Amino acid sequence: MRDLLVTDSVSKKFGDFTALNKVSIRVPEGSIFGLLGPNGAGKTTLIRIINQITMPDEGSVTLDGEPLAPHHIRQIGYLPEERGLYKSMKVGEQAIYLAQLKGLSKAEAKKRLKTWFEKLEIGDWWNKKIQELSKGMAQKIQFVVTVLHQPKLLIFDEPFSGFDPINANLIKDEILKLRNEGATVIFSTHRMESVEELCDDIALLDRSNKILEGSLLDIKKHYKTNTYEVGLVTSNEAELRRIISSRFKYDPAEFKSLNEDLKLNIKLSSNETSNELLNFLSSHAEVNHFNELVPTANEIFIQTVKRNAI
Ligand code: ADP
Ligand code: MG
Repeated sequence: MRDLLVTDSVSKKFGDFTALNKVSIRVPEGSIFGLLGPNGAGKTTLIRIINQITMPDEGSVTLDGEPLAPHHIRQIGYLPEERGLYKSMKVGEQAIYLAQLKGLSKAEAKKRLKTWFEKLEIGDWWNKKIQELSKGMAQKIQFVVTVLHQPKLLIFDEPFSGFDPINANLIKDEILKLRNEGATVIFSTHRMESVEELCDDIALLDRSNKILEGSLLDIKKHYKTNTYEVGLVTSNEAELRRIISSRFKYDPAEFKSLNEDLKLNIKLSSNETSNELLNFLSSHAEVNHFNELVPTANEIFIQTVKRNAI
């Protein structure tokens, strides 16, 4: 797949402090790219560089193969981490004003806004003042304004912070739809809940460095350990354990189940297959749970950041 946005060895210092150290990322066109990392990792700094708010000290950024230039700003929809709306303006009035700054005519802006406001169930707010809205409500308006001019690249800096779970989910679904309609999305987060369902690709930043990058599926494949979580029904647990330990390595498993079963995590060696394990188990007991343990994005995040600290 073609890369829409590429940063090549981008570095940025603030005084003596290095906020980004030679960070290179590739964002494939038409995908959702998660820029992940703990607080202070450098995510917002990189996003501000991509939006030409900050200049890098070193390195380059290209959009569609061209070095970043002022005319690219119109092609990007950017939701900053620090959200600001004019508090005393009315919602509709302000949204139309911001959309016009992005190049939409007043009539077109109004038409698109009405559609989005209905979709996000905020039609009633049109004549309210921003100061009457909660933080989450104001954030919905900003989200709409960010995507309204249908830019090919959307950049959301911590889009879910400030939202309750229901609204976070609503925004997540809209981000997926935008990707399915052809937009390329970069979003940053220090919380992993949203990552699993959203990201095609990720880069993990930690203390100014990129420490992991790739497709989320490939990364998960790389981190998985060939371990299967199994639940077994047996009347003779001691005997079953003895039989299994003659052939496989296991630890206790912790999953929740309605039954009082024998629960094990069984690790296969590289030449063993899941079918061999399943056949073996089913010839000695009733198997009522069989699941490959695939690490979550959160587990990978914690493990990789910890290793980077050593
Ligand atoms: P993240 O978004 O990953 O939480 P940031 O990119 O906001 O991290 O910040 C990375 C580091 O750079 C932080 O330690 C922050 O204090 C520092 N930093 C960011 N912007 C500035 C600035 N304008 N001046 C000085 N330090 C900054
Ligand atoms: Mg940030």
